Formats: sequence, C-alpha cells, structure tokens
Amino acid sequence: MPIYLRGLLFLSEEGQQSISSRDLADFLGANPSQIRKDFSYFGGFGTPGVGYKVENLAKQIKKILKLDVIHRVALVGVGNLGAVVLAYPGFRIYGFDIAAAFDTDSKKISRKVNNITIEDASNLWTLKRRKIDIGIITVPRDAAQETADTLVKAGVKGILNFSPSYITVPKKVKVITIDIAMDIARLPYYMPAS
Ligand code: NAD
Repeated sequence: MPIYLRGLLFLSEEGQQSISSRDLADFLGANPSQIRKDFSYFGGFGTPGVGYKVENLAKQIKKILKLDVIHRVALVGVGNLGAVVLAYPGFRIYGFDIAAAFDTDSKKISRKVNNITIEDASNLWTLKRRKIDIGIITVPRDAAQETADTLVKAGVKGILNFSPSYITVPKKVKVITIDIAMDIARLPYYMPAS
C-alpha cells in the first residue's frame, strides 16, 4: 500500500487524473492483476475505459494507512544525518510535518536548518503540549536509548530510529529502525555469482 500511495501521489503531483491498472503496474513495476485485486479489497474499483481516479485512490489508501491526518514530528540530533533528514522534502507528501529539532551542542542550538530553529534537547519535555507525536532519533549510538526514553516521557507514540542501537520502549510506542548499512549487507546474498 505505501508503494501504491507513493506512485499515486507522484502521478497526482504531475497532474494525472486517472490511470488504468496496466499503466499503474508499468509505472510501479507491479502486476496489473495484483493491483486490481488489492484495490478491490477496499472498494477502489476503476471505471472501464477511464481507469482509477488517482486522487481519490490516494485518499482512500491514506485513510487505510492512517495517513489522512498531519503528524507533527521532532528530530533529535542535528548532525550530518539529522541535517539531511531535516532538509528532505519527502516527508510532507505523506503528511509528516517536522516541526522541531533538538541537539545538546551549544554551538548548534538557536541555529536554523531548513527553516527550523534547533532547540536545546533539555526542552524535549515540551513536545506533548506542541502536539508532536513522532520522534526521529539521529543521535550517536550511546545517546539513543536515553533519547528514546525522553521522547516517550514527552508523549511520543512513534519513533523512527536511525541509530544502530537497539532501543526498548513501552508497548504503547512503536519503533522502526532504519539502517542503510544493514540493507546493503543483504545485497550480496541475492546477487548472482560472478
Ligand atoms: P553526528 O555526530 O554528525 O551527529 C550527531 C548529533 O547528535 C550531534 O549534533 C550531537 O551534538 C547530537 N547529540 C549527541 N547527543 C545528543 C543528545 N543526547 N540529545 C540530542 N542531540 C545529541 O552523527 P551522524 O553522522 O549524523 O550520525 C547520527 C546517528 O545516525 C548515529 O547513531 C549514526 O550511527 C546513525 N547513522 C545511521 C544511518 C542509517 O542508515 N540509519 C546512516 C548514517 C548514520
């Protein structure tokens, strides 16, 4: 579903109003009958000769994925990676608004990155009243668990963890860890022998 959504949002931005399952399949590198089957589960039927209404379908998938509301996000650790994540415009199309950024380095605090003023990490407790419910962790490994604990205390319900540290949180909080190095480590196993 997120893959369909990404494709549909892209097409919508390009101004495309409708698309056949075959063209959508070509565009996404997917199978047209699988697309028809998947969309039929939630009543996203296309019109013969017209295809699927791009915007309407994207709206329905957003609802299924609970992406039909704006989520406010805080990023903690504005170093090399944190600055890149802050500058990435791709979060917005899914309704994620990076509304705050924090660091402990006094040389960085009060500076602006991508129009967001870096705040002192000791102010993380303010997240709840600012209606921020997602945290992104881009701090060094040894600061990750402490940062997660602070985010949870501040009311965050979801954490995107970029640090290589395994972090534990209460059951009510969802953590997703992203590690590009781990992804590349999967490649050789699937690569044909040369
Ligand atoms: P960096 O040293 O450039 O940046 C870390 C930032 O965190 C610094 O600005 C530092 O002042 C700040 N910081 C340290 N402790 C903090 C705390 N308790 N609260 C708030 N801010 C704090 O490091 P980087 O290269 O940007 O990497 C950041 C993290 O991302 C590391 O854990 C690294 O291993 C990880 N990383 C992950 C991937 C990936 O694929 N997931 C890729 C690159 C880096």
